[in-house]
Amino acid sequence: MDLSLTDEHRLLEQTVREWAARDVAPRIKELDRARRFDPAILPQMAALGLLGVSVPVEYGGAGMDYISLGLASEELEYVDTSLRVILSVHVALNSLSLLTWGTEEQKRRYLVPQAQGTKIATFGLTEPAAGSDVRGIQSVAVPKGDRYVLTGEKMWISLADVADHFLVIAWSDADKKKRRDPSGLTAFLVERGFKGFSSGTIKEKWGILAGNTGYFTMDEMEVPEENVLGRPGEGFKVAMLALDQGRYTVAAGATGLIRAARDASAAYAKERRAFGTEIAQHQLVKAMIAEMESDYQASRLLWLRAGWLKNIGARNTRETGLAKWFATVASERAAGNAVQVHGANGYSDDYPVGRYYRNCKGAVIYEGTREIHALMQADYVLGYRRDRPTRCELPPAGSKP
Ligand SMILES: Cc1cc2nc3c(=O)[nH]c(=O)nc-3n(C[C@H](O)[C@H](O)[C@H](O)COP(=O)(O)OP(=O)(O)OC[C@H]3O[C@@H](n4cnc5c(N)ncnc54)[C@H](O)[C@@H]3O)c2cc1C
Repeated sequence: MDLSLTDEHRLLEQTVREWAARDVAPRIKELDRARRFDPAILPQMAALGLLGVSVPVEYGGAGMDYISLGLASEELEYVDTSLRVILSVHVALNSLSLLTWGTEEQKRRYLVPQAQGTKIATFGLTEPAAGSDVRGIQSVAVPKGDRYVLTGEKMWISLADVADHFLVIAWSDADKKKRRDPSGLTAFLVERGFKGFSSGTIKEKWGILAGNTGYFTMDEMEVPEENVLGRPGEGFKVAMLALDQGRYTVAAGATGLIRAARDASAAYAKERRAFGTEIAQHQLVKAMIAEMESDYQASRLLWLRAGWLKNIGARNTRETGLAKWFATVASERAAGNAVQVHGANGYSDDYPVGRYYRNCKGAVIYEGTREIHALMQADYVLGYRRDRPTRCELPPAGSKP
């Protein structure tokens, strides 16, 4: 396993770090307080090539490898989780699914504008009554001639009120829905402009406030059959493979949040004095900072390993899941301790650690909750779970389309 970074990786890391520090960090507190998603961030990310970072040049992307996607995720979440979420839904969950399963026509029509950043995309799986239990979703797609009629509601969807394109999972087989047989699920490429589509923003959220999270409704919305991604009945597989890429960006992003918590805590601990010395000199404060460092390093190695497996085209559901689980749980620990190191100041918005604390919790819930990941990892060890090959796999880095 070679986890060393190339010059191209380092350049990307530096470029994203400088852009986020210069153009977003000074405004993020106000955006977060105002609960405002700033759409002007999207063209800036597009100009940096981030909206198509691991998409081949032939499809309008930057043609970089999957480690680059991880590095960008880590750097973005170092500044704010809302930035990394854009990569997760637009690049990882949606665009890389198109790259994996799409027909040439679908790639030309949807992937190219997404990779160039002229269209924004997201992923709609969760519903009001079903998140972890994917087979519990209620959205249906009724075949009608050369189209499907979709009806249902998707909830807690990142960029729901912003995106142009949606990857939607719905039941296309009513009998299989009754039996909860996942081979009755199908994936659809949906456009905001389709008749019967409407969306809204969730206003009551208390984290990732500079990001858009919402819902969308499909009211007898007609979708042409050429907009099925994969084959009819492959929707569950499309969704699970999409999560392999989404979870990877969440893992790398949580790693960035741990680093942000560590850096803020180290700086504050050397400024703040208690009992005649800077608090960094107190061993229990050191213990918190040391734990942030070990969590940061371990999380980074885990997502790098998953990225390396993606680069060589090896199945990585287990390794990506472990990276996501470990890093997100560790990020909650790091953010909690960062608030602790800051004392009462950590409890105010004057310091960023309170925002880290609010933001990190989402990632412990989405893309597989902490509990679902714990079960998955136990099942791998116990031999109850084994990954079977899928008809389409994420292409290895640098492979020709
Ligand atoms: C900020 C944010 C952004 C999101 N963005 C998206 C998005 O872009 N697209 C999308 O499709 N979804 C998105 N989601 C939804 C997210 O993926 C779901 O919330 C998640 O899958 C959990 O589902 P749930 O909320 O329905 O919880 P539930 O599945 O109802 O779980 C509730 C609790 O029960 C536990 N539980 C459930 N089943 C078991 C079990 N078998 N064993 C042990 N414990 C169990 C869970 O771990 C959890 O603690 C987002 C969520 C948030 C908060």
